[in-house]
Amino acid sequence: MTFELCFNRFCRNGNISLELFYVKIVIEMGNKFVLTGKNLEELEAFMIENNQSKFRAKQVYNWLYLKSVKDIDSMTDLPLSTRELLKEKACLCSISIKDKQVSKDGTMKFLFELKDGSFSEAVLMRFDNRANLTACISTQVGCPMGCSFCATAKLGFTRNLDTEEIIQQIFLIQADTGLKVTNIVYMGQGEPLLNFDNLLSSIKIFREQFQVGARRITVSTCGIIPQINKLAALNFQSTLAISLHAPNQQIRQQIMPVALKYKFEELISTLKSYTQTTGRRVTVEYVLMKDINDSIEDAKDLALAIAKLKSNVNLIVYNQNEKSPYKKPTKESVQKFKYILEASGKKVTIRLERGADIDAACGQLSAKMQDKIKK
Ligand code: SAH
Repeated sequence: MTFELCFNRFCRNGNISLELFYVKIVIEMGNKFVLTGKNLEELEAFMIENNQSKFRAKQVYNWLYLKSVKDIDSMTDLPLSTRELLKEKACLCSISIKDKQVSKDGTMKFLFELKDGSFSEAVLMRFDNRANLTACISTQVGCPMGCSFCATAKLGFTRNLDTEEIIQQIFLIQADTGLKVTNIVYMGQGEPLLNFDNLLSSIKIFREQFQVGARRITVSTCGIIPQINKLAALNFQSTLAISLHAPNQQIRQQIMPVALKYKFEELISTLKSYTQTTGRRVTVEYVLMKDINDSIEDAKDLALAIAKLKSNVNLIVYNQNEKSPYKKPTKESVQKFKYILEASGKKVTIRLERGADIDAACGQLSAKMQDKIKK
């Protein structure tokens, strides 16, 4: 179709060189073999197909996953002819960095342009007292879950990211910053468990190719019960975080429509069996919102609801933006909430707010930049 359009325009205008050049680019981009995301066997097959020796694949593999190369020209241990071939037949990524913002605290927010012209976001964070570098990545364009407090929900849902698009977020962050991502959290845009196959295949690539340990990967879900059972059956060894955000069904269904389908009690019992099957503790995420779910009674109810669930609790102070219908809790109510949970025997952490000045804080990803850029 694109070819036809170009060809027609060429016939009409007679501007041979420009139009042919355009056609060539369109065809080339469409056919190029995307390197990032391929495993060693796939890279070997590509090399053999193109009359190169098989061991060149291992060199490319190392550049991609261990050295985060910026471009094909920088793969300096490949002969020039192999680099030329790669430039002709392959490309590093199918997505690109469209914009980057850096917060006062060093947090970076990346806006990626996808091959169909849609956008996705990821955030890179370093916590002062730790050497870890954590990337928060997206699994969908927008999100279908409709949580009433979340900026991404306002975008609605466009589509799932494919495996390549999920992993290229980490590849591009590493190539851009020259830093190695040590921890990956699936807490960007979208509901990871609704993009199940691509979630699992991307984790496999992060573990095997990017050498990120299973325990350094966290998947956050709003609670899709059948998929949690599937993870249990697979003996999932990364961390599962559950966006609970309420101490009971009544409050949960007011702020999270998913609770109408998957009820609070059933979710807690699903999580209990999950911990038994996998032997892994889950993380209970709880966004504290003023007068919604932050009272002393709420803390006591939550402590009771999760008393027998093998879990740690991560309290998140609500990140307010100008359009938020909800408010931040007071410092005092956060401390009281934490104290009550700790007194019940839970290990509780309060999530540090990161990148608030660039809307990169938890739950703030809404691809606002895309409008700015499109104009
Ligand atoms: N769909 C998944 C992944 C999204 S992760 C999930 O629900 O877990 C993003 C996390 O940020 C979720 O825990 C989400 O509930 C939380 N969140 C959304 N908006 C927020 C806000 N304004 N302030 C703090 N946390 C928020």
